[in-house]
Amino acid sequence: MALVNEHFLKLPGSYLFSDIAKKVNSFKITHPKQSLIRLGIGDVTRPLPQVCIEAMHKAVEEMASASTFHGYGPEQGYDFLIDAIIKHDFQPRGIHLTPSEVFVNDGAKSDTGNIGDILRHDNSVGVTDPIYPVYIDSNVMCGRAGVLEADGKWSNVTYMPCTAENNFIPAIPDKRIDIVYLCYPNNPTGTTLTKEQLKKWVDYALANDTLILFDAAYEAFIQEDNVPHSIYEIKGAKKCAIEFRSFSKTAGFTGVRCGYTVVPKELTAATLTGDRIPLGKLWNRRQCTKFNGASYITQRAAEAIFTPEGQQQVRANINYYMENARTMRQGLEAAGLKVFGGVNAPYIWLKTPDGIGSWKFFEQMLYEANVVGTPGVGFGPSGEGYIRLTAFGSHEDCQEAMKRLRKWLM
Ligand code: PLP
Repeated sequence: MALVNEHFLKLPGSYLFSDIAKKVNSFKITHPKQSLIRLGIGDVTRPLPQVCIEAMHKAVEEMASASTFHGYGPEQGYDFLIDAIIKHDFQPRGIHLTPSEVFVNDGAKSDTGNIGDILRHDNSVGVTDPIYPVYIDSNVMCGRAGVLEADGKWSNVTYMPCTAENNFIPAIPDKRIDIVYLCYPNNPTGTTLTKEQLKKWVDYALANDTLILFDAAYEAFIQEDNVPHSIYEIKGAKKCAIEFRSFSKTAGFTGVRCGYTVVPKELTAATLTGDRIPLGKLWNRRQCTKFNGASYITQRAAEAIFTPEGQQQVRANINYYMENARTMRQGLEAAGLKVFGGVNAPYIWLKTPDGIGSWKFFEQMLYEANVVGTPGVGFGPSGEGYIRLTAFGSHEDCQEAMKRLRKWLM
């Protein structure tokens, strides 16, 4: 008899976005003539940069001839892409990496979800709250999160609230935690940490032998100087942190699928008997067993992002989304709402007025303004009383959504 992994049964029934889709669908059935503006799901809408399209066409042509055909590639990624990543994403910031420390993947979701494979099931886990749900759910699946308690929190997870009250800066824990997830710029709040604030986390991790899993999927949206693009800008971070990056939001690769993970060679974790094991070695073993590399065509497209034209085209798309973020911040503030984020990230975190619950405000906004957001509580208990809006739509939709919200609220 095959037995199931019963940890899966602990997971709440459905995923946040399918709950939202159900509510949106029932609205559409009952209001077939109403046009909806979707500022909910965090998918991009701009087409791929032209350099990526050209690189993919060229790579497809190579696949058509035996002399230039590519079959299985290195599980860790092709050197041409790894070299471009190191040269463009890290060297200019004074961070020196060797190719064996960079692992190309099919997007950050896979690696942020899979990294737990190389870590014992009984490590304690800490997360900022609200949080990108993959971190928690992947820990639930292997039994590391414990059990779900009545307050919506998992018993073996320490939640570090990030709300308007603490300016979205998580307090450094007063106890040891084995693994801490940090995501900056943050999804869902759109907020960031300064170098000084992130340094406190690196110092905590070094003092407590904590592993930081640093998700920098939105790094490309940073506009302000004192916001670190990589955790390795902080001294000592190579000894305590893994960093995840993604081309999804940076270059519109949500449907193409490519990102990478950095596991520095200085980074180790302990066995029960106290031996120190390099995590890069374990991650390499894991990837070689369970992952066969991102496709050649995809990696050529990703490489093209780093050419001068690629950088210009990527910047144009990011500027487009950040203009939406500005429109939304201004529009919402003019409507008397309190908003956070949207300065170094494509997410706006909106405080609901008069303490209305996230889901109630979501439904009112859907039915009365015909605008779709994401209820903040779906990202964790501290997200209650907030709504996430994304800047990934068109200028026209953003402007129209602000008009509707102003009319509705004022
Ligand atoms: N990390 C964060 C914080 C995200 O918001 C997302 C996607 O929304 C991802 C990782 C996953 O990105 P991808 O798998 O497309 O690279």
